[in-house]
Amino acid sequence: MTSDMMIPEATIWELPSDCQASLTIDLPAIVENYQTIRRLANDIEAAAMVKADAYGTGIERVAPALYHHAGCRQFFVANLAEAVKLRRHVPQAVIYVLNGIFPGHETVFRDHDLRPVLNTPEQLAFWRELGGGAPCALHFDTGINRLGFSPEQTERLLNTPEPLNALTIRLVMSHLACADMTDHPLNEKQRHAFHKICEAFPDCPASLANSAGILLGRSYHFDLLRPGLLMFGGNPAIPAPLPEGIRPTCTITGRVLQIRQLEKNMTVGYGATWTAPNSRRIAIVNVGYADGYLQKFNNTGRAFIDGVDVPVVGRVSMDMLALDISDEKLSTVKVGQEVELLGPHITLEKASELSNLSQYEILTGVRERYQRIYIPID
Ligand SMILES: *Cc1c(COP(=O)(O)O)cnc(C)c1O
Repeated sequence: MTSDMMIPEATIWELPSDCQASLTIDLPAIVENYQTIRRLANDIEAAAMVKADAYGTGIERVAPALYHHAGCRQFFVANLAEAVKLRRHVPQAVIYVLNGIFPGHETVFRDHDLRPVLNTPEQLAFWRELGGGAPCALHFDTGINRLGFSPEQTERLLNTPEPLNALTIRLVMSHLACADMTDHPLNEKQRHAFHKICEAFPDCPASLANSAGILLGRSYHFDLLRPGLLMFGGNPAIPAPLPEGIRPTCTITGRVLQIRQLEKNMTVGYGATWTAPNSRRIAIVNVGYADGYLQKFNNTGRAFIDGVDVPVVGRVSMDMLALDISDEKLSTVKVGQEVELLGPHITLEKASELSNLSQYEILTGVRERYQRIYIPID
């Protein structure tokens, strides 16, 4: 095909709306979840965790929605590339980079008015060499053993705090390892350790709680919350129920491509891993592992169609999966019909339980092939 025969890109917008599976992102729900989270915590400040493209929901739509409609003024991303992208969408907001700063990054931080989370003595020294006057955060590791000053490094710093004098520290933070396990002794231990550290920074806001930490209660809230999962409608504290007012934000719907009738002992899909125990009606749906619907759902996923919860049968393929729609209430299901794979009925919690994937992995694993629909804020 020569280039002048090629179909112009613009005609993509004229494609029939039912030719792809869809991912619907409920912006009002994200905004309301954020507001609900703040209400749960006596309205103290909350920064939005929007790393990994806002947990897969689209940072360019979600961050401005939170800024303009929920009054969110602070955002955290993981790396510099995410921060630069975010800056275009929330020009006035405070943006923290969790990974911190590395040599060669300094002009980008300055040009985009970004704040590093300083995680090591090396990062702190580097920031000082740059002048240190621009705002930054300090991260102390109190038990997760991931990023942040180790207890030894923390002690050294607090005993000889001169290196801090030149800095403009706008936040001290730490991160909980086991906040989703309400009774885990590490929670209290980390809270105590962090409390001690905060005493050395009396005028500086402090932040400890991610979503699960927020649900641990007031003593974990300090001055700034850092919700991620809960804002996107996930439940960080299973088996506890979701707090009142938190609702799902993402819905994935596929469509039936073909329906087939199977006789007893016929099998479905690659590897023939599912065998019909008797005569069965099977719907082939246009969502597969290339969309992020992983093979962890083989023979165990569930879908919701016409008010009935139905099982995924056989292995998930790259572009499709099979559902057993033999239930007599589903005799009218036809080609083209929509099927919920994630949403109000097949919740993140449920999908996670079925697949052994974490709710975080399911959300951030959602791929680009879906037609994206944003429910606007009116
Ligand atoms: C990702 C992250 C959060 C948010 O965690 P959720 O469990 O999604 O609320 C908070 N703090 C830090 C440091 C993080 O990396």
